[in-house]
Amino acid sequence: MTSEAPPRNLDFIREIVEDDLRSGKHNTVVTRFPPEPNGYLHIGHAKSICLNFGIASEYGGRCHLRFDDTNPTKEESEYAEAIKRDVTWLGFSWDHLFHASDYFEQLYQWGEELIRDGKAYVDSSTAEEIRDMRGTLTEPGKESACRSRSADENLDLFRRMRAGEFSDGTHVLRAKIDMQSPNINMRDPVLYRIRHEDHHRTGDKWDIYPMYDYAHPLSDAIEQITHSLCTLEFEDHRPLYDWLVETVRVPARPRQIEFARLNLNYTVMSKRKLLRLVEERYVAGWDDPRMPTIAGLRRRGFTPAAIRNFAERVGVAKRENVIDVGLLEFCVREDLNKVAPRVMGVLRPLRVVIENYPEGQSEELETPNNPEDASAGSRKVPFSRVLYIERDDFMEEPPKKFFRLAPGREVRLRSAYFITCSSVVKDAAGNVVEIRATYDPATRGGDAPDGRRPKATLHWVSAEHAVDCEVRLYDRLFNAENPEEGGDFLEHLNPDSLEIVPDGKLEPSVRSAAPFSHYQFERLGYFLVDPESKPGQPIFNRTVTLKDSWAKKLAGGGGLARASV
Ligand code: ATP
Ligand code: MG
Repeated sequence: MTSEAPPRNLDFIREIVEDDLRSGKHNTVVTRFPPEPNGYLHIGHAKSICLNFGIASEYGGRCHLRFDDTNPTKEESEYAEAIKRDVTWLGFSWDHLFHASDYFEQLYQWGEELIRDGKAYVDSSTAEEIRDMRGTLTEPGKESACRSRSADENLDLFRRMRAGEFSDGTHVLRAKIDMQSPNINMRDPVLYRIRHEDHHRTGDKWDIYPMYDYAHPLSDAIEQITHSLCTLEFEDHRPLYDWLVETVRVPARPRQIEFARLNLNYTVMSKRKLLRLVEERYVAGWDDPRMPTIAGLRRRGFTPAAIRNFAERVGVAKRENVIDVGLLEFCVREDLNKVAPRVMGVLRPLRVVIENYPEGQSEELETPNNPEDASAGSRKVPFSRVLYIERDDFMEEPPKKFFRLAPGREVRLRSAYFITCSSVVKDAAGNVVEIRATYDPATRGGDAPDGRRPKATLHWVSAEHAVDCEVRLYDRLFNAENPEEGGDFLEHLNPDSLEIVPDGKLEPSVRSAAPFSHYQFERLGYFLVDPESKPGQPIFNRTVTLKDSWAKKLAGGGGLARASV
């Protein structure tokens, strides 16, 4: 018998990387994450970030952050800052920060070189004519009359395009490849267009801007990227990518590898749609806790570790699929279960008066901060004669399966005492507004010396010590599995995606909790201190409930679902 190391389960990209390192094709791996700074990063980008930065760190290589800022637009600086913040928050650091706009001069020079080599020409057809000549999937394209321009004439025109002599749309620079190609991307693609617009970094220096398909492979080559990882929609662009890095005299020939983008149910992810949600005020901003942006997830209470684990579980494959958003929620529960301190908080308070507890007296009860983690220690929670419990933990006429508080019934108050409901006080309309109860002093700490065990344990807060707070209960932003299917995605907005609980009551230990602190409210879920909180007046965002009431589907996944309950 031979003992072998268990095979490592590598995805197809890591297999390629390992092969290239083993064969000596590369002696180091260089990747990049290349966002266009035209919006905030979302959970789909997180998959790409974890992949690119992850591979670089696993193989001792480098990962660059490159802003693909070839489109001149106004708002880019805010987005670029947000992107850097989000990548850092996820736990990654770039070896170099680059901008595609840093390469504008080099890219332009290569444009001239292509012209001199007879591989590019200036086309003065209108955009519509160029579109018509491009052909279709079943028809070949037609060559433009400008295709036979001399290199001198092309050079002259290209230089004058750069000099700003022509108005937008009058000329473009095109690669001279093959109008008959079955791949439309190879039918003399446009490399440069005229745009008299300021760029957030280069100002008014340029009147022509390179197309993404031209700038991207050449930027990869300049940075000596070894493996250029992108999503599947670029598969058809790969022949152009290869043509450029082979045709232009670049310092390196990177290889493009495509993987399936992340799709999540109940979620829209395209930046264009997210921008609409923000601009048309369906949400409070890019960091609204319902947004699938990294900034939104952070403010909702997701942790970097949860997002990284999610990306790892989702894995990297070649085939498109849709991931259940329940998996993302599972990952954050799993992490917060380990790290979030427990506190007691009541969202819909119902007063309980303990009639045999002396008036004016209070005591402090030792309560573990995290039963999953002894090293988290314990804290003292005040107990007194008047408490709050959760309104739906009481029923005057309980049905058979209701085991919580009811007249004549005894329950345990967590880490405190057993109490028995003796009577109720009602308002004029007949609503229960107060519970009268007695406590058993012998059950201090939550156990009875005679071993009797109530069927329910409730959370509670001492009224005179309670901190008032606002709690924002978030639910999915869309109530359709695929909000992009059928009509406008906005039609599928969930009208109940935010419920504001105005008068939550919390134990005093959270009074001065720092923004972005995570807590588990016992029995209710995980909550984050919202950055809009004021000292002494915390606002809490519900990250997730403790139990997954949505994704029954996950139950089919065995371990995942069992662990989440
Ligand atoms: P969107 O389509 O959401 O507007 P994008 O692809 O235009 O996004 P970029 O800023 O160009 O956004 O993307 C930066 C990188 O992130 C690219 O390499 C892109 O392939 C990757 N990326 C974007 N969306 C996803 C996704 N859903 N899953 C995985 N990777 C993604
Ligand atoms: Mg893009």
